[in-house]
Amino acid sequence: MSHSATGPIRPTIHRFTWGKAEIMTIMDGAQIRQPLRPPFMMDKDDAELAAIAAAARLPHDMFENTYVPTVVNTGSEVVLFDTGFGPVGRGDGPTQRAGLLRERLGLAGYAPEDIDVVAFTHVHPDHILGVMEGDDLAFPNARHVIGQVEFDEWMSGANIPEQRAQNREMFLRLIAPLADRLTYVKGGDAIASGIVAEEAFGHSLGHMMYRVDSDGRDALIWGDVTNHYAFSLPYPDSPVGFDDDKEQAKATRKRVLDMVATDQTLVVGHHMPFPSVGYVERTNDSYRWAPATYQLWT
Ligand SMILES: [Zn+2]
Repeated sequence: MSHSATGPIRPTIHRFTWGKAEIMTIMDGAQIRQPLRPPFMMDKDDAELAAIAAAARLPHDMFENTYVPTVVNTGSEVVLFDTGFGPVGRGDGPTQRAGLLRERLGLAGYAPEDIDVVAFTHVHPDHILGVMEGDDLAFPNARHVIGQVEFDEWMSGANIPEQRAQNREMFLRLIAPLADRLTYVKGGDAIASGIVAEEAFGHSLGHMMYRVDSDGRDALIWGDVTNHYAFSLPYPDSPVGFDDDKEQAKATRKRVLDMVATDQTLVVGHHMPFPSVGYVERTNDSYRWAPATYQLWT
């Protein structure tokens, strides 16, 4: 008996227990982007790029960017890390095929009103555009948390690179008006029970990551510390076009990769391959992404 082809299906929601908490990753969207270099492998020539891509069994002229916000239910509060593309992602144009976070939250049993805290890693478009739905806050009951340095740098604009001019307009339109209701954090500040902010500057000038500790189990939500499992991790020195301060981002990337590899910390990464949860292994001077599997269920 035959059955006509009905097209690909891919998972978009993933949830596991972590200590006394639940951690859920939700794909806001996925986009094919061209070229591969830039943003990645900016210090490699065509032949090197082709060889590295082929070794990873990936195309050398494009990449898929996945956008994966994270929800942590600590048992007493529900914390959402980054808000995806929001309405812009659902429209026509270069950022389409995204903005599905709220719909998928619903499929996972959460209403927008259930989110107690929205914590931004940084204010690049894929992380903040979903903060509003029209004129209303997308997560109306949430306390909104942002890095103090991140907010100050985008507010001032003095050190924001030219390629982020449009991004700064988004910040001024969406985030600056919330100034009075934002909670501003620096490294070491708790944003909820068992969740502490850490500084990871460079990808953006005040980029933050968040450490979740529940019942002695440690996980790091690293935002955009590294942006591609096959290019950023094995080649941490290679400059990345998305990074606003490339030297600082490189230093941060190497510091965090070394830390999570040494400590064997579970990592949740916004642009890591879905479900975006894994470990980092050190191999000589390089690193490898090791997707988490059934250890999450034990
Ligand atoms: Zn991003």
